Amino acid sequence: MIVIKFGGTSVGSSERISGAFEISKSVLKKAGKRQLAVVVSAMTGVTDDLIKMSRLAAKGDGSYTEVFNAVRYRHHMAVKELGLTRVKPLNDFLEERFSNLHDTLHGVFLVGELSARTLDFISAHGEILSAKIISAYFNHRRLKTGFLDARTVIRTDEDFGAAKVDFNSSNRNIRAYFKATKNVVTVVTGFVAATENDETTTLGRGGSDYTAAILGAALQAKEIQIWTDVDGVLTADPRKVRKAFTVPVMTYREAMEMSHFGAKVIHPPTIVPALAKGIPLRIKNSFKPEHPGTLISTKSLDHGFLIKGLSSIDDVTLLTMEGSGMVGVTGISARIFGALSSAKINVILITQGSSEHTITFAVKPSDALPARKAIEQ
Ligand code: ADP
Ligand code: ASP
Ligand code: MG
Repeated sequence: MIVIKFGGTSVGSSERISGAFEISKSVLKKAGKRQLAVVVSAMTGVTDDLIKMSRLAAKGDGSYTEVFNAVRYRHHMAVKELGLTRVKPLNDFLEERFSNLHDTLHGVFLVGELSARTLDFISAHGEILSAKIISAYFNHRRLKTGFLDARTVIRTDEDFGAAKVDFNSSNRNIRAYFKATKNVVTVVTGFVAATENDETTTLGRGGSDYTAAILGAALQAKEIQIWTDVDGVLTADPRKVRKAFTVPVMTYREAMEMSHFGAKVIHPPTIVPALAKGIPLRIKNSFKPEHPGTLISTKSLDHGFLIKGLSSIDDVTLLTMEGSGMVGVTGISARIFGALSSAKINVILITQGSSEHTITFAVKPSDALPARKAIEQ
């Protein structure tokens, strides 16, 4: 098994979808007799638009229908340009999905309420639509390809928007599916999953990378390839640092640090399943398939620089506790972080002045006031 994943820009238009097909074919050719799972994201910008239309509808703003129509138009254009207009099952599927989505949004508009559960149900449409179109296109190009809606195999809790995976049942379901399928190639929806009761959940923004890692680990894949729009993991965010360049080889641990600290090219939880099973992760540029990209495994390479990479997070709050009452007093940090843990607040970074006069920690901005309250209490 080889798992490859295409991000939004890599499937963002009919032209990009046809490029993804060529890449998949060439990976398959080199794969020997191995199966290929092709995890896909929503077409670029579609998840943002689905969230936007949901929020507009919830505010009672009728312009949500304009965003809806634009998304529908984009998918229909892709179908047309890919030569799939006469593939009836695909067109029926899209018709039904869009009609369903339309009704759901109308409901949100009437009630003026958008629960996290409904938002997940709506945002999941991006991957369901793209995966269905892409699998139909692969078949149209005479590559026999199955379609797997990941909601039927990946099980999560009910933490809508950032659901936690139940690996026991998910691994079992994934293995059973790929054992039974006769297809060598299967296109799989990224990002989406479901609860035990079949309610749609999502794995957090950028979560399609994670879907690829979950499948790869369950199936003990030879390799997981993340195809994106840059030449692998770079020394810094290329949108901020023009001279950033590719890190050819890095360890799971280095990749984990970079991604948790803002390198969006890999969704942070992705590394854990790959690391646990020792599966190499390769980050590749779908615009430049010949570029070697980055290989993430247990091995690193001294590339001659002191620092491997820089990353940053914009949206973060720093809280500082200070006072001479903390100097030389044991148990202060246990009490601070115990209070935060009781309030279920995740701490991103911790520093303490060597004089023990200050302790500073970083949290998500939405956790800042609850963190202060928990400590004051
Ligand atoms: P995809 O849609 O393929 O998942 P993303 O937009 O989620 O792509 O991730 C790729 C983007 O991550 C790049 O276009 C780049 O702007 C950004 N990025 C941030 N930091 C880094 C980094 N250190 N190396 C590479 N890309 C980075
Ligand atoms: N489509 C989802 C998002 O935009 C997941 C992904 O692209 O990885 O967040
Ligand atoms: Mg991404």
